[in-house]
Amino acid sequence: MTTDTNHDPNTSPTSDTSPPASDTSSTPDISYTPDTSPSPSIAPDKSPDLEPRQGIIEDDPIPLIRSHTDVIIRIYSRAFSAPDVTLWKNGPNDINDKGHVPGLHAAGVVTMVGSRCRRLKEGDRVIFSPLSPCRTCVFCKSVLHNLCPQRTALGIPPVDGTLQKFCVVSEDLCVVLPDNLTFEQGAIVGSYAFAFHVCRQARIKPGNSVVIFGENRCAKFCASAAKTFGATRVILIGRLDCNYYNTKPIDTPREIAKSILNRYKLNTGSHVVIEASGLDIYMNTGIYILRNRGTFVQAYTTAYGFDRPAEFPLRKACMKNLVFRGARGCLPEDFTASIEMLASGDLSMEEVKNIYEFGDTQAAFEKAHKKIN
Ligand SMILES: [Zn+2]
Repeated sequence: MTTDTNHDPNTSPTSDTSPPASDTSSTPDISYTPDTSPSPSIAPDKSPDLEPRQGIIEDDPIPLIRSHTDVIIRIYSRAFSAPDVTLWKNGPNDINDKGHVPGLHAAGVVTMVGSRCRRLKEGDRVIFSPLSPCRTCVFCKSVLHNLCPQRTALGIPPVDGTLQKFCVVSEDLCVVLPDNLTFEQGAIVGSYAFAFHVCRQARIKPGNSVVIFGENRCAKFCASAAKTFGATRVILIGRLDCNYYNTKPIDTPREIAKSILNRYKLNTGSHVVIEASGLDIYMNTGIYILRNRGTFVQAYTTAYGFDRPAEFPLRKACMKNLVFRGARGCLPEDFTASIEMLASGDLSMEEVKNIYEFGDTQAAFEKAHKKIN
């Protein structure tokens, strides 16, 4: 995460010095692996001498409002996510004339509103969804903006992202940042919103057991979110935690599943499996862990390629009458629900670490890339 510490506090109607909420997610029911997720933060306005494709920080003039329902947001804190780091490492394939500015998730202050904006005003502290749907397709009309085939997203080429001073966003994609959350905390809400969306896709019910694969931030946030949905057993399985992967390469997914079920005394299998690692071994293991009529959710991950096919025990899944769902992006309601739960303390928020000044964005990218890999 990079944070802009050069801003004038007077431009913010509320203090952003509130202490972060303590992380109470380490409940006895949740087995956590060490935190290897990249951290987010903010940044200043001048770019150091960065090499092309290693993070572009623009000091552009204030942009123009494109629609009467747009707002202009002065960005104060930005959080890196996996697509940001992937683009930083590999370079975008489709860039605009002046290069590409990365950055999906951010928090800032509204500095200008369009003539038809009714909800926001200048000075409001906000976060926003980076997705920009077409609003005309069948998915948009069904309020499934994350599935819009024509959607664009801040930070995804050729659209510039949040690693700049200002962004133009539609008012209805913004959510007011509660007073007790800082800009830094607000910038990572997008990751919680995705976790919230994953758990909604899983249809988790009170009393359910949930097994989550992955040791990234997504997996950890899914574990926290699953508890808020009423799951009584939430088991987070990572490589370092279970020693099932790599140390026993000869084990089959069936054998790994049996070990996990015995270890956590899930005799009839779990109600839900959330796969957030992107690793084939866990995708397969999850099928064997689920009980009959269980639900498997594959959280969308770019970690191992967009189009790489995965080996999948389809026959076993059919025999168990499993439900399989995907999860990609999130909806405005996921942002709203997750930020309300974070502000109220119902959903625990991790401490924001590794905060970098805007001018140190290159170092922030390197740190994030190192942690992801
Ligand atoms: Zn659409």
